[in-house]
Amino acid sequence: MIDTTPAHLPPVQSLAILGATGSIGRSTLDVVARHPERYRVFALTAWRSADDMFELCRRFAPRYAALADPQAAHRLAERTAAAGLATEVLAGPDALVDLAGHDEVDTVMAAIVGAAGLAPALAAARGGKRILLANKESLVMAGDVFLRACRDGGATVLPIDSEHNAVFQCLPAQGEPAGTRCAAGVRRIVLTASGGPFREASRQDMKHVTPEQACAHPNWSMGRKISVDSATMMNKGLELIEACYLFDVPGSQLEVLVHPQSIVHSLVEYVDGSVLAQMGNPDMRTPIAQALAWPQRIASGVSWLDLAAVGRLEFQAPDLQRFPCLVLARDALERGGGAPCVLNAANEIAVAAFLERRIGFTDIAAVATETLQALGDRPAGADIDEVLEIDREARARARTFVSASE
Ligand code: NAD
Ligand code: MG
Repeated sequence: MIDTTPAHLPPVQSLAILGATGSIGRSTLDVVARHPERYRVFALTAWRSADDMFELCRRFAPRYAALADPQAAHRLAERTAAAGLATEVLAGPDALVDLAGHDEVDTVMAAIVGAAGLAPALAAARGGKRILLANKESLVMAGDVFLRACRDGGATVLPIDSEHNAVFQCLPAQGEPAGTRCAAGVRRIVLTASGGPFREASRQDMKHVTPEQACAHPNWSMGRKISVDSATMMNKGLELIEACYLFDVPGSQLEVLVHPQSIVHSLVEYVDGSVLAQMGNPDMRTPIAQALAWPQRIASGVSWLDLAAVGRLEFQAPDLQRFPCLVLARDALERGGGAPCVLNAANEIAVAAFLERRIGFTDIAAVATETLQALGDRPAGADIDEVLEIDREARARARTFVSASE
């Protein structure tokens, strides 16, 4: 599936950026703007931020801009018309799906947050695109369905999540398609975790933290949902599941190591005792540039790593009592079937309720636990409709648990 010859890359890659107004979307555009000779912005999509999208249209002049929210798309169309921009504005979730699979697109940056990213990512898979996958929720919800679509469509998946991108760089055969068992000789994959803003907080202290505190990540600047996931360490749990699919390894070959400096982005241990790690400053433009240019390398704008200035790199085992979401993710992995999809849906509902101040921080894990206990025996969805049905059922159940905790 992955052709490792540089000649495989078209001279100018035509890009669709899904989630263009978000943290990953903007970092992608920052890298792209440094290499106008290599990349052409064909389509930008987002949810409802018409003003932000208008600014991006002015700057990058995409052929298409699509907003999932029809009213916001209408506002955007008025503004682009008034400004005389050539960009054509499309509206509604189906427009995102159409653009992700568009014939004139070579590469899709899948950077929508949450379950909303699944349908467009699947369209990119079916369309045989080079997929830069940031939306880990696609794999957690529908790993088998998504990877099958990639195989059938001839798509290439390149991981953007910094840990998985690091693992990808440390694995021996980078030409292997996503979902192929890691090459023989790999003993273990270790995903690093910063530990988030509450790395040293007691469970009691965590009960009272605010959304602002939870979103203030010590090392990374990210969207609100993934910031809360990092604070609960559910993000690392979702990443364990993501890694199982991407690298076709069982959970027993995966470990999590807390590394507060976020310099070592992950490690691969080999049977001879060698451990390869990928390092760099914590800035998503590095994995984005790596995936955009792979198998070549391009400048990303990230500052050089000064290890003497960093001084110390620390590592510690995660505390499973204080961060029960890691245990939950392992539980979902062991249950298999529809359990990871149930966990993801419950987490999205719980995080949204926390950000709206309807439930406390520690209730997020409680809602996810209750939902997983109630629905964790669902078999895996065989296609996207079945996956979305499990997702809907889990969301509905999680909402009842949220209401009970309010
Ligand atoms: P963000 O909240 O900053 O941006 C999300 C983007 O998705 C926005 O452009 C928004 O308009 C769009 N969006 C949201 N809901 C939508 C909907 N219903 N329909 C269509 N578009 C919608 O999020 P982010 O931090 O950039 O994260 C994006 C994805 O990348 C997530 O899956 C996250 O887990 C993953 N990721 C992010 C980082 C990071 O550093 N930010 C690192 C690793 C992985
Ligand atoms: Mg990550």
